[in-house]
Amino acid sequence: MDSRFSRQSFLGEQSQGVFQTARAGIAGLGGGGSHVAQQLAYLGIGHFALFDPDYIEFPNLNRTVGATFADAVSGTPKVAVTERMVKGINPYAEVWAIQAEWQSDLASLRACDVIFGCLDGFGRRRQLEESCRRAMIPLIDIGMDVHRGDPYSISGQVVLSMPGEPCFNCVGFIREKDLDDEGRRYGEAGANPQVVWPNGVLASTAVGIFVQMFTPWCRINSGIGFLGYDGDGLTLERDSRLTVARNMECVHFEAISDVGDPFWKP
Ligand SMILES: [Zn+2]
Repeated sequence: MDSRFSRQSFLGEQSQGVFQTARAGIAGLGGGGSHVAQQLAYLGIGHFALFDPDYIEFPNLNRTVGATFADAVSGTPKVAVTERMVKGINPYAEVWAIQAEWQSDLASLRACDVIFGCLDGFGRRRQLEESCRRAMIPLIDIGMDVHRGDPYSISGQVVLSMPGEPCFNCVGFIREKDLDDEGRRYGEAGANPQVVWPNGVLASTAVGIFVQMFTPWCRINSGIGFLGYDGDGLTLERDSRLTVARNMECVHFEAISDVGDPFWKP
């Protein structure tokens, strides 16, 4: 075995080969996505599809892993920063640095074995879940919020959406009301507060779910996951809504056009 990975051989004899051949997609390379990318590179993931249209600016420097002061001065594309970081760790990695929203390159999205959703907003999450379900790709979504109030409070979540299993709607993560509220608020709010440490917790947990799915090291692999992060109490717990959804059959992707890859040719 490559000595770079000798300390993680407990993950299983085949696991490093699985990582090497896997392609991980990351939609959004902000505080969460950049953190996920770094961990996947250290794990030995061999192929990446990175999606983000934006450039590094000074307000990104409080949390974007791999971004430097010079990147903010020159306005380096986020995908270039993440590609540089990944290749610095593993020069053999193949990186598709797609400087656009994921919707503009569905072929690359469909080539992924797992997608990490690191986007803001319920509507954008719902869209990504639809595309992942259609292409039968597991989606691991992370997100955090700082709630204004006196005092401020922080919350977050990690949610796994597996094709055929309960979806974001089933587990109560995205409800129609959330989408409606978001539509009404659109354009009102300024940039939301974001900080580095909750992103680190959530990104690490998302990578943990991925490793449990793709390697045999751990017996706990429920196939679905919904973990809530209490950033005030600094705890991460299974969301109780998951227990309700566990025996539920998803009815939100029933139409024939919702299932399967319309571009697939036998
Ligand atoms: Zn559902």
